[in-house]
Amino acid sequence: MREVQDLQREWHNCDRCELKNTRTRVVHGAGKVDPTSILLVGEAPGENEDLQGVPFVGDAGMKLAEMLMYVSHDDRLVQICNSEDEEKTIELKELREILFRTEEIFMDNVISCRPPDNQNPTKPQIAACYPRLEELIYILDPILIIAAGGFAFQTLTGKMGKSGKGPGIQAGRGSLHTCTIQGRLCDTITYPVLPILHPSFLLRQPDFKIKNGWADKTQNDILRAVVMVDILKNHYFGISMPTRVNRSPFPPKEDQAKIRRRTK
Ligand code: URA
Repeated sequence: MREVQDLQREWHNCDRCELKNTRTRVVHGAGKVDPTSILLVGEAPGENEDLQGVPFVGDAGMKLAEMLMYVSHDDRLVQICNSEDEEKTIELKELREILFRTEEIFMDNVISCRPPDNQNPTKPQIAACYPRLEELIYILDPILIIAAGGFAFQTLTGKMGKSGKGPGIQAGRGSLHTCTIQGRLCDTITYPVLPILHPSFLLRQPDFKIKNGWADKTQNDILRAVVMVDILKNHYFGISMPTRVNRSPFPPKEDQAKIRRRTK
């Protein structure tokens, strides 16, 4: 059986699509393997990821790490999220490793190379990279897959139409879907997929600090994902976890009113 390193070695100098001409490097997935509880799949590497060769290390990645830390059992992680410190981003970057380990998270993207100017991935690019994603899922065998954004949702659930369009992430989020991959010994294997709004989208929303705004809804979707993993781990492996809570803060009511006024 191949391991993640074997897969990454095979794809390291990939020339299956035109992104080979513009990328700095192929961005391989990173996080916890053997076991992986959550495989989080994003869209495509951005500028920071392309330069560093690691997924989700830019602003969107930090937003995602922060949202995952707010529902973590580890008090240290929650404390860092709540600090107003300028060092917070650096600490979040360092604490990602702890987060990955404690929550057994692996992060990757639908395509491994940055499209120029962060354009949307095209259907041929997604198709060229799909065998890699499919084998990654097979190797990691996660309990749950979180699809961040419309491209991950459509690609994983097979809901992308011929035109490259399918049901949007807003239609998909809030409920559970499935991803079916080709097995080796059996015909197919099916995994639960929970779609969330993409963190880059959240960063562009003026309502991101408002209760019941998109970020708040996504925070709750993430809570739902980790709770589901806890329940499935308990069911299949007898591992019991303490109750989870969403410990993300929202501004007091008067500040929320100010933000609403400003964003009208
Ligand atoms: N956005 C993504 O979808 N993936 C990354 O790795 C970074 C930003």
